[in-house]
Amino acid sequence: MPNNMESESRKLLGRLRDTLAEDSAGQERLDRITSLIADSMQTEVCSIYLFRDSDTLELCATEGLKAEAVHQTRLRIGEGLVGRVARTRSMVNAADAPSERGFRYMPETGEELFSSFLGLPIQRLGETLGVLVVQSKDARAFTDDEVYALEVVAMVLAEMTELGAFVSDESGMTALHQHPVLFRGATGQEGVAEGNVFLHEPRVVVTNPVADDPDAETERLRKAVDQLRLSVDSMLAKVEPSEKDQREVLEAYRMFANSRGWMRRMEEDIGRGLSAEAAVEKEQGAARTRLAQVPDPYMRERLHDLDDLSNRLLRILTGQGHETGAEMPENPILVARNIGPGELLEYGKTLKGIVLEQGSVGSHAAVVARAWAIPLVIHAEGITTEALNGNAILVDGDQGIVHLRPEDTVATAFRDKIAMQAEAQQRYAGLVGLPAETLCGKHISMHMNAGLMADLPSLASSGAEGVGLFRTELQFLIRNKVPRRGELATLYARVMDAARGKRVVFRTLDIGSDKVLPYMKPQDEPNPAMGWRAIRVGLDKPGVMRMQLQALTRAAAGRPLTIMFPFVAQFDEFREARALLDDVLISERKLGYVPPSSIEVGAMLETPSLAFAPDLFFEQTDFISIGGNDLKQFFFAADRENERVRRRYDTLNYSFLNFIRQIVERCNQFDTPVSFCGEDAGRPIEAAALAAMGVRTLSMRPASIGPVKAMLRRLDLDEVAQVIDQAAADGAQSVREDLTAYLVKQGFML
Ligand code: PEP
Ligand code: MG
Repeated sequence: MPNNMESESRKLLGRLRDTLAEDSAGQERLDRITSLIADSMQTEVCSIYLFRDSDTLELCATEGLKAEAVHQTRLRIGEGLVGRVARTRSMVNAADAPSERGFRYMPETGEELFSSFLGLPIQRLGETLGVLVVQSKDARAFTDDEVYALEVVAMVLAEMTELGAFVSDESGMTALHQHPVLFRGATGQEGVAEGNVFLHEPRVVVTNPVADDPDAETERLRKAVDQLRLSVDSMLAKVEPSEKDQREVLEAYRMFANSRGWMRRMEEDIGRGLSAEAAVEKEQGAARTRLAQVPDPYMRERLHDLDDLSNRLLRILTGQGHETGAEMPENPILVARNIGPGELLEYGKTLKGIVLEQGSVGSHAAVVARAWAIPLVIHAEGITTEALNGNAILVDGDQGIVHLRPEDTVATAFRDKIAMQAEAQQRYAGLVGLPAETLCGKHISMHMNAGLMADLPSLASSGAEGVGLFRTELQFLIRNKVPRRGELATLYARVMDAARGKRVVFRTLDIGSDKVLPYMKPQDEPNPAMGWRAIRVGLDKPGVMRMQLQALTRAAAGRPLTIMFPFVAQFDEFREARALLDDVLISERKLGYVPPSSIEVGAMLETPSLAFAPDLFFEQTDFISIGGNDLKQFFFAADRENERVRRRYDTLNYSFLNFIRQIVERCNQFDTPVSFCGEDAGRPIEAAALAAMGVRTLSMRPASIGPVKAMLRRLDLDEVAQVIDQAAADGAQSVREDLTAYLVKQGFML
């Protein structure tokens, strides 16, 4: 029977291909297809429903139902058996359809005459495009072979829908991927950009889903899989044993590439009339459907691996190489499922924006995007399936929104927003040489955060007084090996050269938690943010910290050096780290290196505990920098990476501001300079509140210096403090509303 069915299915596909090859318009094609399926499957009815919009299915062609119902009968997703197939993306096979749960009687179609029902989703790579249905009068369940044959037909229909084979005025079907689509994601990096889609992994186009020589197709598939295995093996050979993550992914690739089940299913598909490419895509589509239903993160990763592997195989089969020939468009906006920092750096700063389906605020890619100040939207679910290379796209990193193929009105409004921001930037440029002096005569020192060599030019253009936070881990994150001491020393020296004598605060490695080095053994910790990270790693495994401190002192060679230890939770940790530094200084001197001309050593206050450290800590530390991102998450016990709780507690929450004020007072008591270097320093209203709490040094993204300075120069901080205290006295937990109202009254456009 299977062999017989194979040839039946091949015959059906052969007829289908001939019909598709005929020169006919979209509607005519659809009509012919339904009648040929009904004829081949010996059913009275065959109908094709396609999505009219994201939640409405429309009967687009039928053999056997009333012709008047075509383009009249519409169903919402989930409605009736057809809607159920679309919603669940799975088959309904019912011998007695009217007694099925959810059956909906549609008199306009004459449906009551039919008893059995087989409906299958028409889907391509996990995206549902419509539903294919056959029905017959006698109450029979369709056999596995019949189901299979129809599944293959549905897949070919999906390919043809994707290629626009059914588009015509009469059919009312417009081509896919033409409509505007709005994606609501989350902010990875603020800023707005207009440009054109550049897909990190362009989709492969399959133009020949049906093939009539199964032996030749099987041979093509086997050769391609052999090539794939070889390429996976050679990738594996190049990976160092220490690069555990990469090895794990490649091992998974190898496992799939050698999987007999995978191969067998694809060969069976070919036997039934599919081309090798279509067989690969069919498996890939099935994996994507599973992916959508699997909650277990480990399993999801594995299914992603299979998806990647299928893409590689498709590229081999179609000859559409990794570079599918798509040129980088003007104003490129990179669209990807996810991307590593190394790959992102390869694209360079030419990118105008980045949109990811996955990613997280603290992901490495986000760190790089932030360092470059390129707008980034994360969690834009489904965008890689929907976007085509070259499509117009608007990225609103402020709101975490993406408009793909936007309507003119949306694009115009968006351009106004960009123009307003550009205008404001010009105004800010006029402030570069001016101090951030408030109306009440207080000077706020403006510094910038950096982490890559490429950030340094902003030091002059932004008017920053220095680099208040140099995140040294970025250099470690973008490599796949621990950088050598010599390399680091050269790099740090170049950073100091580029700073031209301005102060650079080098923060020692802040790894662990979300910042996992590609070559570091991942720690299986229940709560990494509170786990083995930053200075804790540095003190427990002092080798790397020592190496970094040596590189820093060698880079300074006779120049002043500023070092800051991250995530210090208690005095002892600071003391120990400082002792390690003193040790390094002594041994470096012995080795004949010129010591720095002066050394400042500070601590980041990122856990509430440090605010209550013994007095001696405040006396012995040269400065303190409040890492507001971490401090806030620990103060409110709300994970900064967790979208559910991240925004729940406002920085302008009085409890937090009050805590900042207490920290500043404690530092002032010992004349210990204190700064604030979390993201909030770069947000004008938050910066105003921090300054009103007594913070006199802020360190932020270079692009924020203008807006923050513009606000501070027009403020009386005593009045701001009064507004904050009054709001709290009135019982406000967050003072945002009152502070905003005050600022608006002062003439600020917020
Ligand atoms: C902070 O926590 O505020 C900070 C500046 O450090 P990071 O964001 O790198 O953890
Ligand atoms: Mg931190």
